[in-house]
Amino acid sequence: MDDTIVSAFTVALRGGDAVAIDEVTLAQNAKDYWGFGRQPGLVLRPRSRDDVVAAVKVAAEHHVSLVTRAGASNCSAGVMAGADRAVIDLTQMNRVLDINPTDRTARVQPGVINADLQQQLAPHNLVFSPDPVSAHLASIGGNIIENAGGPHALKYGVTYNHVLSVEAVLADGAVINFNAADDGPDLLGILIGSEGTLAILTEATVALRPIAPVTRSLMGSFTTAREAAETISAIIRTGTVPAAVEWLDRAGINGLQQFTDTGYPTDVDAIVLIDVDGTDAEVDRDGAIVEEVLRQHATEVRRADDDDARAKLWYGRLHAPDAVVHSGKGFFIGDVTVPRQHIPEMQQAIQDTAKRHSDALLFIAVTGHAGDGDLHPTTFYDKENPAAPAALEAANNEIIEAALNLDGTITGEHGVGTEKIQFMTKRFTPVEIAAQRIVKQVFDPAHTFNPGIMLPEVSPQEPALPAFEAAVRAALDGHPKSAPDADGDDSTVEVNTGNLNLVVGAAVTLGDLSRKLHEQGVTCPAIPTDGPDRTVGELIANATGEERLEVRHGLLGVEVVLPDGAVARFGGQNMKDVAGYDTKRLFIGGRNAFGTITSAVFKIAVAR
Ligand SMILES: Cc1cc2nc3c(=O)[nH]c(=O)nc-3n(C[C@H](O)[C@H](O)[C@H](O)COP(=O)(O)OP(=O)(O)OC[C@H]3O[C@@H](n4cnc5c(N)ncnc54)[C@H](O)[C@@H]3O)c2cc1C
Repeated sequence: MDDTIVSAFTVALRGGDAVAIDEVTLAQNAKDYWGFGRQPGLVLRPRSRDDVVAAVKVAAEHHVSLVTRAGASNCSAGVMAGADRAVIDLTQMNRVLDINPTDRTARVQPGVINADLQQQLAPHNLVFSPDPVSAHLASIGGNIIENAGGPHALKYGVTYNHVLSVEAVLADGAVINFNAADDGPDLLGILIGSEGTLAILTEATVALRPIAPVTRSLMGSFTTAREAAETISAIIRTGTVPAAVEWLDRAGINGLQQFTDTGYPTDVDAIVLIDVDGTDAEVDRDGAIVEEVLRQHATEVRRADDDDARAKLWYGRLHAPDAVVHSGKGFFIGDVTVPRQHIPEMQQAIQDTAKRHSDALLFIAVTGHAGDGDLHPTTFYDKENPAAPAALEAANNEIIEAALNLDGTITGEHGVGTEKIQFMTKRFTPVEIAAQRIVKQVFDPAHTFNPGIMLPEVSPQEPALPAFEAAVRAALDGHPKSAPDADGDDSTVEVNTGNLNLVVGAAVTLGDLSRKLHEQGVTCPAIPTDGPDRTVGELIANATGEERLEVRHGLLGVEVVLPDGAVARFGGQNMKDVAGYDTKRLFIGGRNAFGTITSAVFKIAVAR
């Protein structure tokens, strides 16, 4: 990197080891956990928010791209430096600033490792709910910016549900606090899952919960993967929400067994691991329901009540990623999510793909957070096989097509990065990509942050959306626009108990909706019981305070007419979806400035 630029960063960060251009440091910052990446021209190691601001200002002045890096555990080849780019390494900003047991909050610097935070919370009997399998590697900032999930997202939600506020440094060096409780469009929600392309997070306040007093683990073994998948769907339909429902198929079990003795049966087609937690009484009730469903189809059911037995049961699943890395084989980890009632078809589609390509690929092992419909089909191949790359590409395409045909999404928790960028145009229409490109343009006009991540090349089909752009700009400037209510005439109410979601037209009144939900024996916490004449569209657009927070947690998707007249869908029926910017968030409290909501998708629960 040019000497003038190195000097400018050195002056701005006051020397020391905050700026590095030695080969060892550059090489250390070249690759992520999986071995993807490119060597940067410079590494910056800020210790404070002010250091980050100083670095961003120099980068802006000298047109240097900044690639943020923390735990480097992302699964999407999302930290891509290069000789003309600087890595901004946040691992030194790793202090837990405050734990407030009364409010159940923690304030942290972005580089705090998830497991370190959990360790500091344990004496307070508290936990930060997001528990990615990479908790020992991943930072809280990385969890937020990837909207990480984990085994227990099924009951407790993904990272989005636990972030109260963040401090972010924007591309011009401005420092802004984004708060979940701020009325108006959910800009915090846009930042969460933005893959480091909009801002650098320098601090976060996260919500905590008490550690569940009792946890029971169960494992069911199945002669066919389809039966295992159908059992998961059956458990979801009972309305019992286990804390976790994870799975491994035959290829996954046997692949793992080559590296470590998991104790899992190796003569079955799939195993399902389930946690139920809560008070003694809750665990007895939920555990009994889950066990009964398991026993209807499983050839064997194991139960673990104490910590040691539970750790043994989970050991294999939690070490699956290590086995992948140490296999010495070529691999690609997929991350498709489908509405939960489609898990059996998705599993079948993956197995069919594996069969079709068995001459060039070794096998496809499926693990994943099946209770959320989030499967990780991991394709293994022999690195020396010249036919493997083409077969891998074809297999990935087939798996993605199958997920999209089942109303699924291209990534449930790993993000798009550079790995899934080619699938963005399959997932989104040109209008929906254009809207997301505007989000990037408004936040980061010079493309300083993580260029080349997430959004595909501009296509001529993408329309200009000037009115939408003006609305995004006004929101970021702190003066959000508004437009009159116009709910359209969609009065659909579709209750999907197989996935526990609701599709509802914006014109439906809250009173009518509550009646219909009651008739079907389900509840929707995001729908308030007062104001029966208000419509669903009006609720989402104008929600404030507690009501807005409930909508934030319950909303899965919206269909909208943008102010420029084009129709777009953001989100959908998937419990986890981190493809692109979480654009639906703009419509929560957005007062119709970003367009008119025509229908929405919410999470529901079985009334108990
Ligand atoms: C073994 C293993 C298991 C995994 N299991 C799961 C799982 O169960 N669930 C799951 O969701 N994910 C999982 N992951 C993926 C990964 O751990 C998560 O995406 C994690 O949140 C990334 O955090 P990180 O600190 O490693 O981020 P990094 O990899 O360092 O960075 C990820 C992205 O965030 C950006 N970034 C990082 N910090 C900031 C910041 N402060 N401000 C702005 N941008 C930033 C980077 O530029 C990059 O684009 C797994 C990964 C591994 C290796």
